[in-house]
Amino acid sequence: MVQKDDNLKDIISHSKEYGFVFPSSEIYDGLAATYDYGQLGVELKNNIKEYWWKAMVHMHENIVGVDSAIFMHPTTWKASGHVDAFNDPLIDNKDSKKRYRADVLLEEFVEKIRQKIQKEVEKGKKRFGDDFDEEQFLATNPNVLRNQKKIEETEERMRAALESSDLEAIYNLIVDLEIVCPVSGSKNWTEVRQFNLMFSTELGSVAGDAATIYLRPETAQGIFVNFLNVQKTGRMKIPFGIAQIGKAFRNEIVARQFIFRMREFEQMEMQFFVRPGDEMKWYDYWKEQRINWHKALGLGEDRYRFHDHMKLAHYANAACDIEYDFPMGFKELEGIHSRTDFDLKQHEEHSGKKLQYFDPELNESYVPYVVETSIGLDRMFLAVLSSSYKMEDLGDGKQRALLSIPPALAPYKVAIMPLTKKDGLPEKAREIMDAMKLDLNCIYDEKGAAGRRYRIQDAMGTPYCVMVDHQTLEDNTVTIRDRDTMEQERVNVDDLHQIIGDKVAMHKLLTS
Ligand code: ATP
Repeated sequence: MVQKDDNLKDIISHSKEYGFVFPSSEIYDGLAATYDYGQLGVELKNNIKEYWWKAMVHMHENIVGVDSAIFMHPTTWKASGHVDAFNDPLIDNKDSKKRYRADVLLEEFVEKIRQKIQKEVEKGKKRFGDDFDEEQFLATNPNVLRNQKKIEETEERMRAALESSDLEAIYNLIVDLEIVCPVSGSKNWTEVRQFNLMFSTELGSVAGDAATIYLRPETAQGIFVNFLNVQKTGRMKIPFGIAQIGKAFRNEIVARQFIFRMREFEQMEMQFFVRPGDEMKWYDYWKEQRINWHKALGLGEDRYRFHDHMKLAHYANAACDIEYDFPMGFKELEGIHSRTDFDLKQHEEHSGKKLQYFDPELNESYVPYVVETSIGLDRMFLAVLSSSYKMEDLGDGKQRALLSIPPALAPYKVAIMPLTKKDGLPEKAREIMDAMKLDLNCIYDEKGAAGRRYRIQDAMGTPYCVMVDHQTLEDNTVTIRDRDTMEQERVNVDDLHQIIGDKVAMHKLLTS
């Protein structure tokens, strides 16, 4: 655990050092849990967006996109349930004065017991070697069984308390489990209270309730209110989807762990409208599609797991998360939710407008059901960074910092370098770069020793370096150096564009 936390610290400082992520308004000592993306960060972020947009919109004939406003009519949030129910249960520790989400404290408690079971399994594996039968061990080992029972009992009580929003029961569970504050180590807790997560502001110069509007806490509602606009103008036939990428705002009780939980963040959401009754089929379909999208990146198949929701949101009839093994452990990266017809029906009721679809095959009109996929762009960014960041031993006490970002997502695809600053090499390098930059994001570097320049590109995550040397002037060849293997190959300049273009192409991810 300690090692993982250290890893997060290293990632944060590496991100800052190379211009991926800066603390926001840093010259004023920053603003809690708010970050700015720097010159490399914005490129990585844009590439992740492109990968998502292509996979969701361009690869699906029945999905289109929108870009709706952040401000929406305030009744939207009454209809969606956010005004009344977008609350988190919060609890304070009286000694440390730290504030926690009560449900997160409980989840972390359960996760710790899970880790204990995992440790028992590791011990068993070591002791019995090849003869170890994990299934049998899990079914019979007394320690495992005791811990498993504790997890089940805790989860059952959690489910009951959270589903009925019974704040006293949540408090009692925290006390009964003897959960201590991670900072003060004490059990001196306040009662549990509800806290609404929406930021409000006022429209124009009018004061008072009527002018209160909210910064959207999710992008989904901008899709729902445009459901008929898109369906009619795009002549969409059910099943079809609407996708959107945009900012969302939540006044999180505890915003920490770098860009994992922020108060201003970005979401990539898709609402898929289906025939009532078909939603579970499409829920399974999207679960599979989304996990494949993640795995195609090659960040490590064992870094993902599905987690079914215990407490279903007020709108859902099935929901799960794709969790990722972040430096802080397995946490939610993406949610897949079957939202029923809740949102459209609510908007019908509050707006007085019909939001129905006439199904020519059934010859009837209905309010469609919705399956949603919702991923946090910033969390995806952290997933990519944390799996890519490595300190590699090169022998002789030398090390290199490496970001092995999947080439299709890397900020720069190629660095072009003349071996020296003279003999016409810079001119030749510039000529190569001018041709390549039409298609690929290139960076030019002529300063310092070649080895040092390679190290800088490794740390920035640039997958390929092209070196222009004296031989280039004689036979029109250059070397391509591979970031991950550090191997070099000599190729003809005429083939360079094609070779690198193929290596960094996004279509490989989209078709795998
Ligand atoms: P959590 O349980 O971690 O608070 P959530 O279940 O409330 O997340 P959703 O409402 O399902 O999150 O939002 C969809 C996605 O948006 C999440 O999977 C996550 O990737 C992202 N997200 C949500 N809240 C934040 C935040 N405060 N900062 C960054 N990303 C977020």
